[in-house]
Amino acid sequence: MPERLNTRARAAKKKSSGKSAALAEKLKRLGIARREDLCLHLPLRYEDETRVTPVETALKSTLDADEDGGVQLQGAIIGSQIQFRPRRQLIVRLADASGAITLRFLNFYPNQMAALAVGNQVRCVGEIRQGYFGAEMVHPRFRVVLPDTPLPESLTPIYPTTAGLAQAALTKLIDKALSETPMDETLEAGFLASARLPTLWDALLFLHRPPADANARALAARQHPAWRRVKLDELLAQQISLRRAYRARREIGAPRLVAKGELAAALVRQLPFELTRAQRRVCAEISADLHAPYPMQRLLQGDVGAGKTLVAALAICQAVESGWQAAFMAPTEILAEQHYLKLSGWFKPLGVEVIWLTGSQKGRARAAQLAAARTAGLIVGTHALIQEGVDYERLALAVIDEQHRFGVQQRLALRQKGEAPHQLMMSATPIPRTLAMSYCADLDVSVLDELPPGRKPIRTRLAREERREEVMAYVRKKVTAGEQVYWVCPLIEESDSLQLKTALETHAWLTEALPELCIGLVHGRLKSAEKQMVMAEFAAGKIDLLVATTVIEVGVDVPNASLMVIEHAERFGLAQLHQLRGRVGRGAQASSCVLLYAEPLSPTARARLKIIFENNDGFEIARLDLQLRGPGEFIGSRQSGLPLLRYADLETDADLVETARALAETLLARFPEKADQIRERWLGEKESLLKA
Ligand code: ADP
Ligand code: MG
Repeated sequence: MPERLNTRARAAKKKSSGKSAALAEKLKRLGIARREDLCLHLPLRYEDETRVTPVETALKSTLDADEDGGVQLQGAIIGSQIQFRPRRQLIVRLADASGAITLRFLNFYPNQMAALAVGNQVRCVGEIRQGYFGAEMVHPRFRVVLPDTPLPESLTPIYPTTAGLAQAALTKLIDKALSETPMDETLEAGFLASARLPTLWDALLFLHRPPADANARALAARQHPAWRRVKLDELLAQQISLRRAYRARREIGAPRLVAKGELAAALVRQLPFELTRAQRRVCAEISADLHAPYPMQRLLQGDVGAGKTLVAALAICQAVESGWQAAFMAPTEILAEQHYLKLSGWFKPLGVEVIWLTGSQKGRARAAQLAAARTAGLIVGTHALIQEGVDYERLALAVIDEQHRFGVQQRLALRQKGEAPHQLMMSATPIPRTLAMSYCADLDVSVLDELPPGRKPIRTRLAREERREEVMAYVRKKVTAGEQVYWVCPLIEESDSLQLKTALETHAWLTEALPELCIGLVHGRLKSAEKQMVMAEFAAGKIDLLVATTVIEVGVDVPNASLMVIEHAERFGLAQLHQLRGRVGRGAQASSCVLLYAEPLSPTARARLKIIFENNDGFEIARLDLQLRGPGEFIGSRQSGLPLLRYADLETDADLVETARALAETLLARFPEKADQIRERWLGEKESLLKA
């Protein structure tokens, strides 16, 4: 007998450990692994169960527009029956001294039926609506009480949860976590007082269990001081993590690029224009970085056409003049080729050797390029630059154009090619200021906020695709006037071959419809030599109308092109539309962009088209894009691996971002253990890629 008992005890134990593993798994889905995580798992919203509303009052108030969240009623069950029309459901009548109401349950268990038996006293929360048989509550939350069961003193939190983990169970776990020792306060009392913020622990207690009279609106808007204290802490953790990565890189040595600036001066002298003020300022910032004995990590932001290539070229001058090599990496072959042509046009007259490396070079040609790349002053190319077998003897500067197109891994690989080359990352997808300050806090950021003089704003028009004929007449008119046109094919994300088919079809029907024009076609499936030939012909003015897929999205620079037509513009993202549109408006003539769209438009597509129609400034477009999409998608691959902010909102909490930035610097410099503590409680092990 004892043996049998033993087995039973063991089985019970096994069952309970299986249960706790299942619970741990569910918590993990919510990002909860430690006690801190429970404390930092904050309610989505609250329900007010601190008051009971008389049934009669509740019924009256539904006649006005009801406030959200519903009401709480308490009364005795005076009727309870299962009905089968139209389907099986439980209909319950609840009455208090003022009146009675129907509660309707479409799904219910026997134990719920028992709880709702006639004579029981029940408290229920829900929204009242007018049903077929009068006012009712459908599926209210309820519990059985005694007539004198006290009301709770605080608002009831509703937590984000996951399948199989009930609100009540999660609330209990959080209650327990909150009942243990308070978390240490890391910020100074004086600072908190002057910023009018509570301690973190007080803030957490408040947010988990707000008193009945808490300011509901400030709570919902997450602008209550308690919310602000929590968000500040979260932003601090992010800043500390990124600034620490930034500081760690400063410990790594890099060649100091000391030059008199003669090469740069010679380059500037041969240009037919002057540098803009913004270009001069940014060049000075970069030059100072290159002088330093640790690697530059600078992000250069500038709208399309702001002249980033030239800024990079001047940095390259500093590397080459001081006896080192520079590499210039672009995301597509077309763009790399363009840069190669432009940069060799600038550098060859100065006696600097410029080499071109792409993945499509093979055999002997490739071997020769690789040999030359070992010592050339400047190597331009695609990610072929970072492949196995490519060696540089003295690489000191890596320029990465359109950095948002490259993954973190590729950037790290380029860094490993030299000791620790200086890195200049360029992006024409402007990152809104607050986003740059938070997610890019491991970088220095320069902004080219001025376009070269004489640029004419691009006129954007929207047209339903039924108006294609008119658009074609306009294309004909432009070409007759000696200008050139891009025709961008619809984006088909899910299928490369469909995309190709569409490009071929578009080219075919345009050729038929506009027989007098010389029409070219460029798409991703062409061999690189073919692509280059088409682009060269377009640049030389031999092609009037270039049908293209998004391969021309970034960087392409043909000043005589003054009109761009984009088909199915509703399928493109905002950054992409802005990039594409930036291909025109580069010459002296007025330029325009026609966005053809097909109805029906989704609300987001409509919002995007409205934004691109109304705005020409890339930074403003980026800001609106951030509002539309949130930071997760916005930063894309750059920080994949870096946890996103859960509570702070970069738009509404911009002031907190600034405070966090300054505070993080102070903590790192003066109280590194405290900085660690903050980072640890928010990020734990989640911080990964940045250490690389
Ligand atoms: P982006 O910033 O989009 O990469 P580019 O570097 O391609 O822009 O520059 C766009 C065009 O403007 C190029 O033809 C370039 O030669 C020209 N450009 C650059 N700087 C100036 C300037 N200061 N004045 C006039 N034109 C300039
Ligand atoms: Mg560019």
